[in-house]
Amino acid sequence: MPAVDLKAQFTAAKQLFRVSDDPDLMRAQFDAFSKQIPLLYLILISNTIAVAYSYVNVAPDWLTMTVPSALTLLAAFRTFWWLRQRHQVRSDADILRNLRVMNWMTLPIGAGFTAWSFALYPYGDPFGKSQIAFYMAVTVIGCIFSLMNLRSAALIVTLVVDVPYVLFFWATGEPTLKAIAVNNLLVSGAMVTVLFIYYRDFADLVASRKSLLTQQAATQALSDENFRLANLDSLTELPNRRRFFAELSSAFADAERRHVGVAVGIIDLDDFKPINDNYGHSVGDRVLIEAGRRIREVCEGFGPQRVEFARLGGDEFGVVVCGDPEDADLARLGERIGEQVKLPYQLDTAHTGLSCSIGFALYPRSATTAEALYECADYSLYHAKRRLGGRTVTFSSELEAEIRSRGVIENLLRTVDFDTEMELVFQPIVDAMSEHTTGFEALARWQSPRLGWVSPADFIPAAERIGLIRPLTQSLLVRALAAAKAWPGHTRLSFNLSAHDICSPDGILPLISIIEKSGVAPRRLDFEITETAVTFDFVRAQQSIAALKAMGCGISLDDFGTGYSSLSHVHRLPLDKLKIDRSFVADINDNPVSHKIVKSLTGLCDDMEIACVVEGVETRAQLDSLRSLGCDFVQGYYFAKPMPGAAIEGYLAKEREWCDGADAKVVA
Ligand code: C2E
Ligand code: CA
Ligand code: CA
Repeated sequence: MPAVDLKAQFTAAKQLFRVSDDPDLMRAQFDAFSKQIPLLYLILISNTIAVAYSYVNVAPDWLTMTVPSALTLLAAFRTFWWLRQRHQVRSDADILRNLRVMNWMTLPIGAGFTAWSFALYPYGDPFGKSQIAFYMAVTVIGCIFSLMNLRSAALIVTLVVDVPYVLFFWATGEPTLKAIAVNNLLVSGAMVTVLFIYYRDFADLVASRKSLLTQQAATQALSDENFRLANLDSLTELPNRRRFFAELSSAFADAERRHVGVAVGIIDLDDFKPINDNYGHSVGDRVLIEAGRRIREVCEGFGPQRVEFARLGGDEFGVVVCGDPEDADLARLGERIGEQVKLPYQLDTAHTGLSCSIGFALYPRSATTAEALYECADYSLYHAKRRLGGRTVTFSSELEAEIRSRGVIENLLRTVDFDTEMELVFQPIVDAMSEHTTGFEALARWQSPRLGWVSPADFIPAAERIGLIRPLTQSLLVRALAAAKAWPGHTRLSFNLSAHDICSPDGILPLISIIEKSGVAPRRLDFEITETAVTFDFVRAQQSIAALKAMGCGISLDDFGTGYSSLSHVHRLPLDKLKIDRSFVADINDNPVSHKIVKSLTGLCDDMEIACVVEGVETRAQLDSLRSLGCDFVQGYYFAKPMPGAAIEGYLAKEREWCDGADAKVVA
């Protein structure tokens, strides 16, 4: 047992003379040394020269000249070497090797100086001998201090100098020197104690600095992670809107500096909302994730331009195309994205296909700032959606002209007096079987003194955008009702409402009071609303519709089939009529698909026991087909174009004449 203890103690003792291989401690030691070691050699050389000088005439030259010169040269060389270490980058292994060399070099150097001192000693008079004792004691203290950061080296020096020192001077028998020896022994003991304490604190300091650095690194990693998350879309794990705009502004700045092109694209899934409405949000989410994944794959595999991709929100994605893309590149990218998005998606029980619309804008052609470029892409998308559902549109000079005219329309609308500049025309709605006019749809007209005739398809959305649609609707409704008041009591009035009329909190109240004041029976009125308007804010739309219904007004769902025809809306709203969009009528006799759609829509109306109105009837053949499909009412140029209110009386009179004539023929 004691043998084992001894062995362990020996190993521990050996450890004291070894250089630690803790990388941080090593680096700190090396760093401290590169500053302190030159000082150590300075003490050593200056003290040595002082001693050699005292012995010049009494001791042999090799002792007073040769050895000190050689030692001085060696010390100077080492000083120079250490001074050079200050600005060098070294590997851990290199540092360890140098510290080890340093550690073990203290042995021959310490022993060398000790031996040299003892060799000189016999030549000195008592003063000279005392000088040797003083020189050795002071120098060793200086050396130990300078070596404190490397405990092993300091211990080696203490051992190779102080042990022989104490023995040597004790052995001289000279009382003063013996006293100095004892003195030095005590001082050495104190020095070693201080050395241990200092070294422990030094090692602790290095360790705590290391843990501080680790902590800092952990904090940095955490903040990096936060940054990553802040730039990531939580559903699709794609870069998010914030990231997109950061990417856009840096790509834009880069393109500006290098005088090359950069493009922005906005991708919007068509018909995504019904998936959400009909299959629920979790299915919708899965479709979004999958669509995002596919678009990302296209972007990553695209070349030679680099494409950055992000989810902007909802079913909208964005791309930044860097590296001077041309129109053809954008068309190619749009086509590939479109192809991938179109592939089937697995829903709960079924598969579905999607399409997408993409709007691109190219710098420098379309805009001079990143924000404007994005706006242009957004407008291209709007155009792609509105006109060409499921296509890619790149911003062009025509679109620019359109935007400009949009701006002009908006500006003029702000100054227009609706009551004088806006007018109404009326288009008959006809019973499909009897071909008698049952009512009129009021349609707005704007004859602007500056712009000429402006289509309601342009100024109604413009009034919606600038928040003027509600006063416009009110002004038109007052006049439509005034006109209807003059019509025969059974003739109905259809009036178009916009999303803002039925979805803003108090939008419907002024309309109700206008109806009440008009003196026209509410049961003669039909309000036409579009599906898009209803989906704007379904709950509020439902409330507005309920209020109109409660008065006795009828509700028609306008443009049915062009929106995303969510049947759930049809079921959940108290509708009286469904208006089938004229796009299905135009080719009803040539296109079996249109024929089928109208057929299924009239069937739907039958099932729900609501009337069906078909718009845009221009020919007899169309009318015949619609009649055979069981449409209730029709409307279109075949019967009459929209006419001014003043023309209605004449129109109705003519119709009566014609009918009377027809009846007379039948009687005859
Ligand atoms: P809408 O409600 O679907 O109105 C029917 C549109 O089809 C009218 O265009 C009408 O002139 C046109 N039309 C009627 N018969 C035919 C036909 O046989 N062939 C063709 N090609 N077109 C026909 P308009 O007057 O230009 O109105 C466009 C849209 O503007 C309307 O579509 C409606 O959504 C909106 N609008 C018009 N007046 C108002 C209004 O007073 N208030 C609101 N909120 N929207 C209005
Ligand atoms: Ca309408
Ligand atoms: Ca319509």
